[in-house]
Amino acid sequence: MDAKDLIKRIKEDNVNFVSLQFTDVLGSVKSVDMPLRNLAGALEDGVWFDGSSVEGFARIQESDMRLILDPDTYAVLPWSPEESKRARIFCDIYTPDGKPFEGDPRGTLKRAMKRVTDRGWTFNIGPEPEFFLFKGTNGHGVHPVPHDVGGYFDFSSFDEAVVVRTKLMEALMSMGIEVEVGHHEVALGQHEIDFRFTDALKAADNVLTLKYTVKAIAAQHGLTASFMPKPVFGINGSGMHCHQSLFDKNGNNVFFDANDEMKLSATARSFIAGQLKHACALAALVAPTVNSYKRLVPGYEAPVYIGWAQINRSALIRIPRYTEGRDKSMRAELRFPDPSSNPYLAFAGMLAAALDGIDNNLTPPKPLNNVNLYHLDKKERKKMGVGELPGSLAEALVELERDAVLKEALGTAAYEAFVRAKWEEWDDFRLRVTDYEIERYLEVT
Ligand code: GLU
Ligand code: MG
Repeated sequence: MDAKDLIKRIKEDNVNFVSLQFTDVLGSVKSVDMPLRNLAGALEDGVWFDGSSVEGFARIQESDMRLILDPDTYAVLPWSPEESKRARIFCDIYTPDGKPFEGDPRGTLKRAMKRVTDRGWTFNIGPEPEFFLFKGTNGHGVHPVPHDVGGYFDFSSFDEAVVVRTKLMEALMSMGIEVEVGHHEVALGQHEIDFRFTDALKAADNVLTLKYTVKAIAAQHGLTASFMPKPVFGINGSGMHCHQSLFDKNGNNVFFDANDEMKLSATARSFIAGQLKHACALAALVAPTVNSYKRLVPGYEAPVYIGWAQINRSALIRIPRYTEGRDKSMRAELRFPDPSSNPYLAFAGMLAAALDGIDNNLTPPKPLNNVNLYHLDKKERKKMGVGELPGSLAEALVELERDAVLKEALGTAAYEAFVRAKWEEWDDFRLRVTDYEIERYLEVT
């Protein structure tokens, strides 16, 4: 869509305001709002803003940054009121000398994707973000009290969750997202909405769209939506499994090989091997919060050990079973990402790890079919050569600091800003005295 088409479309949609959006290095959505009359100028010249106030962006002395609008990402925000209708457009960030800013997460993913488009391939991702709906708080702060008593795929005709989930799916579809399914997840108050796979850039844009749309629509129903990886102790947390594949120029799935017993091509196997090799460092990008590591523990359908398998949901990478004639659906489901990640940086890291496997013809270890990894002890896992994911954000960051491939994929600016912000987050957490410690130690020590 060019600038003229966009303005015409915006007028037809009766939109009055446009939110120009981008993310900081942590994945928080930032927005500059503009009345429609200024849009033509913004489309032509971009919009200047002060980058020094954004986490991970420019230093004070070089703070001017420019937003360049991506008209293809135009979507009306369906919850905005009719009389002041609002749309959003995602932006790329440029430096004053007209170059893409190296610390822009969206730009980082674009750079990473160029390495596959140069080979004539597309990197596809179908993310499955899970989330909780919690009861309204009546101004008393947020307490994670699930709003229902449902379980996996539960159906109830009058359930509030069905009403909210239907509204959510309608809202997302009106924004151009191809919703595939929405369902109740295993835990109380937990839900999942899956959308059709697309190229990784669009998939990352879609994840951000889904997150803020879910929050906005939930709030309209007096509920608080949370994508926190493990909001409630003792029940399943929320992941964002990513179904990944590579397509060639003709739309054929590079992962498919009719002659292989699992129908997996050598390229797919090397892709998997690369992601397994870099898993510990990749954790810092796909599970990037202190809380992420409360989810990656045994017993809650989230992976803990580094292996791959066809049927096994305890594995880090799962290959969904092949159905005759569905060559396009051959894919590798990476199960440790969670929705607290910045999807641009997470997907850029996933791709770089996979390409390292492909470029070096790595072969993965034997698949761990029919083994429940949660049931193996340390010795058995060692014998099978099955490694473990980092147990904390700090461990993951140490791994990231050692990983030249992922560091290069992020680029110096994004990498440095990311690890700086994440070590601060870790230290902030480490310094606190938790309820657990008081209960455990106060009286008995
Ligand atoms: N909620 C689980 C997780 O944390 C996944 C459940 C599922 O298999 O969809 O990853
Ligand atoms: Mg799920």
